[in-house]
Amino acid sequence: MPEARGLWTNWAGNQRCAPAAVEHPALENDLVALVKGAAATGRTVKVVGAGHSFTDIACTDGVLVHLDRYGRVLSADPGTGRVTVQAGMPITVLNEELAARGLAMPNLGDIAYQTIAGAISTATHGTGRKLGNLSTQVVALELVTADGSIVRASADEEPEVFDAARVGLGALGILSTVTLRWPRRFDYLLEHLDELVDDNDHFEFFYVPHTGGALTKRNNATDEPARPRPRLRYWTDKVLMENAVFGALCRVGRVRPSLIPRLNKLPIGGRRSDYVEPSHRVFASPRFVHFVEMEYAIPRSNAATALRRLKGFIDSSGLNISFPIEVRFVAADDLPLSPAQGRDTCYIAVHVYRGMPYEQYFRGVEAIATELGGRPHWGKLHYQTAATLAPRYPGWERFRAVRARLDPEGRFRNAYLDRVLGPPT
Ligand SMILES: Cc1cc2nc3c(=O)[nH]c(=O)nc-3n(C[C@H](O)[C@H](O)[C@H](O)COP(=O)(O)OP(=O)(O)OC[C@H]3O[C@@H](n4cnc5c(N)ncnc54)[C@H](O)[C@@H]3O)c2cc1C
Repeated sequence: MPEARGLWTNWAGNQRCAPAAVEHPALENDLVALVKGAAATGRTVKVVGAGHSFTDIACTDGVLVHLDRYGRVLSADPGTGRVTVQAGMPITVLNEELAARGLAMPNLGDIAYQTIAGAISTATHGTGRKLGNLSTQVVALELVTADGSIVRASADEEPEVFDAARVGLGALGILSTVTLRWPRRFDYLLEHLDELVDDNDHFEFFYVPHTGGALTKRNNATDEPARPRPRLRYWTDKVLMENAVFGALCRVGRVRPSLIPRLNKLPIGGRRSDYVEPSHRVFASPRFVHFVEMEYAIPRSNAATALRRLKGFIDSSGLNISFPIEVRFVAADDLPLSPAQGRDTCYIAVHVYRGMPYEQYFRGVEAIATELGGRPHWGKLHYQTAATLAPRYPGWERFRAVRARLDPEGRFRNAYLDRVLGPPT
């Protein structure tokens, strides 16, 4: 039932209006019905959000619609990074709903009391060199139009409506649902990789295959007093989740590999944690889950390309990979056989739970790394020989000369060295 006529004022108190009727719909059908009802009685319709505009943009003498009963999350999929909400959801609530899923809006204005529909309708913005306003984060919407029909709009469906309605001033209809996409962590990381590496003493991240998600670790030297992780928290995160639970999931994945993409979405290492501790406790973690590993050193300038290709390879290969891919950065040096010789380096490490097949995966990764100037870690699995390695190391002959001088008879040779260095001459 429409409320009796009363005076409506905005948040600032500088705008007021006297609507003929006030509605609080709870269902999309109610939106349709009230638009049709208004058309039948010749009234105009105006949805009001949180009344946080300073202009009379939300004022009406027709039917004023409050969406205070129309603000639920309809779907949220961390895999695709999409969340669909009813248009009346206050941004404060949206923030909490996202946080509960380990997510966040990439940008916000000064306040978060607006409704999502009200905010995008006026192109509410925050600040950020590379970030658009909130309307640009919308990837789909539903609009109840003047004849009571529901129009779905996105870049692929009704693209003109989509662009107009993302900053629609309430002039095109009633926004019923809004779908937002937050940048997936992996894509965000690749776009900001240089800043992250340059702005931290030690930056690394773990890309979780099949999810688009990633876990980052930023370690910086500080003079601040120690602020250690509570012992229980350390034990829960590092021992229980990252070892016992992760190990159990790996065992399940070994028996049923097809489950791995879904298992990877479980929040095993997802809790944010800030602490100040002695460096040996920060750098090293307990590792009880056994695995085999390949790690490639590629020029840092090729890091984002390599990681995009690697993700593409995994996604298209049909492989099920349970272990996160570890990405680290190392400064250039001048040691003849150092994989970082002569170039700032990105190390990309891939792991497979023990007892699971790995050759297809590792050969695929190796092919990508090789194309991008990769040099294998000497202590981790690879399929290279002296013939394929020599051209990658400008200091190859320097090393061979030292070896020939110090061990001309091959006293220290073994099968591995024969493969990767060739026999001593
Ligand atoms: C204290 C304060 C701080 C602010 N800070 C910022 C800031 O940092 N950045 C910034 O850009 N702006 C800021 N604003 C402005 C504010 O974000 C915008 O005016 C925003 O539109 C208010 O949202 P609302 O939900 O209150 O919508 P309202 O003001 O109630 O409505 C705005 C418009 O949205 C339409 N609308 C609402 N819901 C729907 C719907 N479901 N379908 C169709 N149309 C709809 C209304 O009809 C109206 O045309 C601030 C305002 C205040 C009061």
